[in-house]
Amino acid sequence: MTDSTEQATKGQGGLTRAALFGLCPRCGARSLWDAPAAFAPSCRACGLVFEDYEPRGRGLYFVLLPLTFLLIAGALKLDDLVRPPLWLMLALIVVVVPGVIFGTLRLMKAALLIARLRAAGVLA
Ligand SMILES: [Zn+2]
Repeated sequence: MTDSTEQATKGQGGLTRAALFGLCPRCGARSLWDAPAAFAPSCRACGLVFEDYEPRGRGLYFVLLPLTFLLIAGALKLDDLVRPPLWLMLALIVVVVPGVIFGTLRLMKAALLIARLRAAGVLA
């Protein structure tokens, strides 16, 4: 395995751990998320400041808008193909939509955080 491949694998593991489990990219403490998709101001264990690197604003819409259209199209297609009862459709929407939106937001924000920390020289 080459160095660049190892680096990419290591980065992906860090991204997944940061996004899913909220682990600090520097020390690994579980302190990244304060809300479902919002960073804590800083790491409680090592003091790394997250809020300075948090992606905010309209850039996130470029991912959320197509995702919203995909979710709507998926719901319409499911309704068309399976014709589930309304209560089941509503229950699915209540569970699936926030899960997909927050999961995607967490992955995106964690990837941007790690990229920005690397660019700033905070992470190796
Ligand atoms: Zn930390």
